[in-house]
Amino acid sequence: MTIILFFILGAVIGSFMNVCIYRLPRSKSVVRPRSHCIYCQKTIPWYDNIPILSFLALRGKCRFCGAKISARYITVEILAGLISALLFARFRLSAEFFILWYLSGALIVASFIDLEFQEIPDEITIPGILVGLSAAALYPPLMGEAKFLPAVFQSFLGVIAGGGSIYLIGFIGEFIFKKEAMGGGDVKLLAMIGAFLGWKLTVFTFFLAPFFGSAIGILLKIKEGRDIIPYGPHLSLAAIVAVFYGEAILKKLFLF
Ligand SMILES: [Zn+2]
Repeated sequence: MTIILFFILGAVIGSFMNVCIYRLPRSKSVVRPRSHCIYCQKTIPWYDNIPILSFLALRGKCRFCGAKISARYITVEILAGLISALLFARFRLSAEFFILWYLSGALIVASFIDLEFQEIPDEITIPGILVGLSAAALYPPLMGEAKFLPAVFQSFLGVIAGGGSIYLIGFIGEFIFKKEAMGGGDVKLLAMIGAFLGWKLTVFTFFLAPFFGSAIGILLKIKEGRDIIPYGPHLSLAAIVAVFYGEAILKKLFLF
């Protein structure tokens, strides 16, 4: 029962994420004005703004002008709801739950902006890094530590390992292919993931991401004939897997 409640809560926050995904890359405020149709500019009434249900009821069209609403809206709401429910099922109402809830929200917003614009705004990743470091400081068990200092150190190592590994790959890629291989947005995204997960799970995320990379890349190529494959969604997906299964998989692989 509570799991359903957290699905709904997640979907509600997902609809705020949709606002961020649309407005952040366009340098618009995410709090004002109220939601409106991007085609006819009419303010969306509250009953057309109910996560998931409104999209289904309106069959993905604006009530006033009939313009098609991107399927991204309902996708993000369902995804946010699912991750929220899964996090609650795993961590219950713990500090970990709220910290990882924040991380998953940041990852969803970053990924969908990256899919559309091939960039990840600093407005997500820079505060994200700070939130991750602070979370480790305030709640050391997040890093598997008992004390403040070692926990912050672990989180800091995560930032270095995450940012450093992508930066290095980008540097090598540029050297070999003579063109930009990895964006600065990806560097900061994995640095943010590192701040939340510590260095071990961040290295895990780094090595897992390319496997999703090829799957999403092929899908995008077929669907839209794209050449440039945004890397943010792959890192994000790998980070979510790391949150749920990383420790268990690492234990199996290396016995630690
Ligand atoms: Zn409209």
